[in-house]
Amino acid sequence: MPGFWSKWFSRSEATNAGQRAGIVLPAESHWLSAAAPTLALPVFAGLSEAELATLHDLASQLLVEKTLTPVSGAVLDAPTCAAIALQAVLPILYLGYPAYRGWREIILYPGEFIPDREVTDDFGIVHRVCQPLSGEAWEGGPLVLSLDDVAASGHCLGYNVVIHEFVHKLDMRNGAVDGLPALHSGMSVEVWADAFNAAYTDFCGRVDAGGEPEIDPYASASPAEFFAVLSEYFFEAPDILFADYPAVYEQLRQYYRQDPLTRLAPFLQGTQTS
Ligand SMILES: [Zn+2]
Repeated sequence: MPGFWSKWFSRSEATNAGQRAGIVLPAESHWLSAAAPTLALPVFAGLSEAELATLHDLASQLLVEKTLTPVSGAVLDAPTCAAIALQAVLPILYLGYPAYRGWREIILYPGEFIPDREVTDDFGIVHRVCQPLSGEAWEGGPLVLSLDDVAASGHCLGYNVVIHEFVHKLDMRNGAVDGLPALHSGMSVEVWADAFNAAYTDFCGRVDAGGEPEIDPYASASPAEFFAVLSEYFFEAPDILFADYPAVYEQLRQYYRQDPLTRLAPFLQGTQTS
């Protein structure tokens, strides 16, 4: 067991993060065993010891600074906290924790939830929203997750509700939720837009034509969802994203400052040949 885990959990206990969230923190030894199954998820395959150490620092900070609020009978235990925190900080492994500042609460439902709200469409018609959701992220407000969907994340199957909702938060940091986060110096908005617009147009065309793309058709819902869903594939199934949209993969590689295609290659090749 890497020594840094005990550092993380003892630090979490020292700041009473769990108590603030209404959770009874387990003993340190239980924290250690709680994180192990999450770290064993294939989405973390190939991370170096140094990267795992950074991951634990970021996850620790998340559990200290955010309030985790279980609702509707959701059970929030140590393994669940570890699963959420560790997957949440993977996208910011090379971006730093401040990327997640500016909001505080993570609301957790046991499974899919149906929001009770009304939205007004482009024609001024008000609709009641009644479709079940696996997660959502509010601008300046809470992030919401279904724990059933958290459990389904991290298996390198192209699905990760934690990454999806947290990268929406990254998208929101520079204003409009439009699939264009604040790019680093040296990156070009024009190059990003060219890559994403061409891919989005192609993808929507394939979905409208009744095709069955490997990437979740939900990505066609909007440019913001396209960015969030393709970020899931970037971390969970980079081979699928790279095969379909290599220019988008390259932009996400520059933005996240990570190369999961290389990092996960041994795992992905293993699953393909077995
Ligand atoms: Zn979304």
